[in-house]
Amino acid sequence: MGCRQQKPQTELLRITAQGPGRALQGRGCYLCRTEACAKLALKSGQIARALKGKAKEPALVRLLEWMAAPLA
Ligand SMILES: [Zn+2]
Repeated sequence: MGCRQQKPQTELLRITAQGPGRALQGRGCYLCRTEACAKLALKSGQIARALKGKAKEPALVRLLEWMAAPLA
C-alpha cells in the first residue's frame, strides 16, 4: 500500500475500518509511518478502497496522529 515500499510490518501502520492496529480484524491497508506515504495513500484512494465504505476515510491529520502514537 501507499508508496509500495517493502518494509517489515512492524514498521508500518495498519488501518482498518475500526481504526489503526495490527490486531484488528477485517480488511485493512498498511502505510509507512510517514506523512508522504499517508498523503499518497489518501490521494490515490487506497485507504478508502481498503475500508470499502465501512468507515469514513480518516483525514490526513488523523493518520499523522496514529503514526505518532506507539505501535498497537
Ligand atoms: Zn509507504
